[in-house]
Amino acid sequence: MFRLPLTSVLVAVCAAAATPEQFQTSAGTLELTPIQHASLMIRAGGKVLYVDPAQGKYDDLPKADYILITDIHADHMAPALVERLSKPGTVILAPAAVAKTVTSATAISNGESKTIGRFRVEALPMYNLKPAADGTLYHPKGRGNGYVVTYGGKRFYFSGDTDGTPEMKALRNIDVAFVCMNQPYTMTPEAAAEAVRAFHPAVVYPYHYSQSDLTVFSKALAGSGIEVRIREWYPK
Ligand code: ZN
Repeated sequence: MFRLPLTSVLVAVCAAAATPEQFQTSAGTLELTPIQHASLMIRAGGKVLYVDPAQGKYDDLPKADYILITDIHADHMAPALVERLSKPGTVILAPAAVAKTVTSATAISNGESKTIGRFRVEALPMYNLKPAADGTLYHPKGRGNGYVVTYGGKRFYFSGDTDGTPEMKALRNIDVAFVCMNQPYTMTPEAAAEAVRAFHPAVVYPYHYSQSDLTVFSKALAGSGIEVRIREWYPK
């Protein structure tokens, strides 16, 4: 009889994707699974949508019906993985700069909207307001997209890599926000909290946070009425 050594069983358990977050919508339950860093998976209405599949483990995860990509950097765009998760009919939406490399993607620009199945996708600007200390502008305006995804009346915002731009601060009626922070590429936890206060989602998940101090972010939002949900986005 073949028996798995105990260690492989433990590894298998630990390698499984994080527990999905569940959201009730008018079109039924939407499940969102943090994978790693900026990568996550949504399952709703029998469909699978990935945002920035690039980091983490995908061995046990399903193929994609839809994929959204925010930018060209390797922590967001992984052409070989996108290819592996794709099947006939998979719809990939990405900015033009990404579609140059991921040629199966349909380009969507800042300010454009598209409907894919029961998901409505709005592309928003994501960019740095000024160069980092070394003079590099990591995210010039117009190259990448943040996204607002609406499903069953619930609006989910994925910031991509950005500073707290006027466009972000002007967002309204966001139910659930995923907001980046990591220096020197995007925001500090303080700046992220300030931007989040401005557009006031009901719930915010810090993601793409690397070594950022999330207690600073949480404390800065204390008393705001915004629910901060800290999850493990860097599985061991
Ligand atoms: Zn990034």
